[in-house]
Amino acid sequence: MISQNIFDLIIIGGGVMGSSIAYHLANDGFQGRIAVFEKDPTYEKASTVLSVGGIRRQFSTEVNIWICQYSLSFFKEFGDRMEVEGERPEIDFKPRGYLFLGNEKNWPLLVKHQAFQKSHGVETHLLNLEETLRLIPDLNPEDLVGSSFSPGDGYMDPHSVLQGFVRKAKHLGVTYLPQEVVGILRKGNRLEGVETKDGTIYASHSLVNAAGPFGGDVGRMAGIEIPVVPVRRMVYLVKPPRLFDYDLPLTIDPSGVYFLHETGKQILTGKSRKEEPPGFNYEWDRSYFQEAIWPSLAHRIPLFNELKVVSGWAGLYEINQWDFNGIIGEHPEVKGFYMAVGFSGHGFQQAPAVGKALSELIRLGRYETVDVSALGYERIFEGRKVLEEEVI
Ligand SMILES: Cc1cc2nc3c(=O)[nH]c(=O)nc-3n(C[C@H](O)[C@H](O)[C@H](O)COP(=O)(O)OP(=O)(O)OC[C@H]3O[C@@H](n4cnc5c(N)ncnc54)[C@H](O)[C@@H]3O)c2cc1C
Repeated sequence: MISQNIFDLIIIGGGVMGSSIAYHLANDGFQGRIAVFEKDPTYEKASTVLSVGGIRRQFSTEVNIWICQYSLSFFKEFGDRMEVEGERPEIDFKPRGYLFLGNEKNWPLLVKHQAFQKSHGVETHLLNLEETLRLIPDLNPEDLVGSSFSPGDGYMDPHSVLQGFVRKAKHLGVTYLPQEVVGILRKGNRLEGVETKDGTIYASHSLVNAAGPFGGDVGRMAGIEIPVVPVRRMVYLVKPPRLFDYDLPLTIDPSGVYFLHETGKQILTGKSRKEEPPGFNYEWDRSYFQEAIWPSLAHRIPLFNELKVVSGWAGLYEINQWDFNGIIGEHPEVKGFYMAVGFSGHGFQQAPAVGKALSELIRLGRYETVDVSALGYERIFEGRKVLEEEVI
């Protein structure tokens, strides 16, 4: 085997997760050659670039709060950290906060979560209706009790974040190969390398599965069952008849519909379709907006009774059917098989912390900065779930 095809670590998938892991390892002083295999370097269908780019600390589990606290401070310094030869990426972070609206039904849960978040150092406030209306004067508060608001959370341009990680990782010496991995070579519980679509073998005893919605497929290549499936999610860009003269927080209605401001004060909106079957479906369906989103949107903001659907897109959540949370860490039996998959709609925001955590696990054999051990694959073996009650 030619020596350039031998690596100390192979990362399968060069989206935000794989690239954050690559960046953190190289930046933290990993001794060895790292290759990131990315089958589509245009990232046209990568979940990362099709995401809304939101980050929040309003979670109901300790581990998700820790992860997003680290990630939020990381994103705030992103430009400085990713600077390459004097150029700093601009990620357009808008810290407008996340606002969960509460009605009779979900209010007790929001109250419980706010207390939990506060006890973990997250500045979440319970707002009464008057305070909520001050944030969104156009809101219809009719059936609401109040809201839960986390100022400082917000959203950014996911494409710029991805490019920032990729550029910096390459600058630090990581090799990106535009190749599709089609097989994983394994002898017993020892990894030997990967095979790409053109038949080339690349040797490595360690690899990271960061294949996003393809995480289950990559697991099967190594004979490992990972309960991650692709599930379509659609986003709609709409233009109201009058543009607000204030900025919306990223708002989540009790119906499940979310909305936020996009460039030019247009509105991005969407809602997870519960009955969506798993599959690699990227088809954008305008009728879902009419049936499932518009009624709730127009009820909540009467101005949205009249609006124009400008465009939209569909991307894939990588749903972890076990408990809707990321699976992070090394396989308990197949040594050197690391995973960062199954983030179920909150993976973009978790990438900085997961990158740091896996860098520590791979280099030092332990977590130091953010303890993500609760999200290890072991929990599936042990029948333990980490149930997150704040999934959008
Ligand atoms: C509509 C939508 C909105 C979202 N909004 C948010 C949000 O607001 N906040 C948030 O935190 N998350 C959000 N998410 C979720 C988020 O996008 C994902 O959790 C995250 O981007 C996952 O990153 P990734 O790098 O694991 O996956 P990806 O970005 O999909 O990257 C995986 C990469 O692996 C490559 N790959 C796969 N298999 C192979 C192979 N065999 N060989 C080589 N390469 C391979 C793929 O080409 C791909 O580029 C949203 C997702 C969608 C679809």
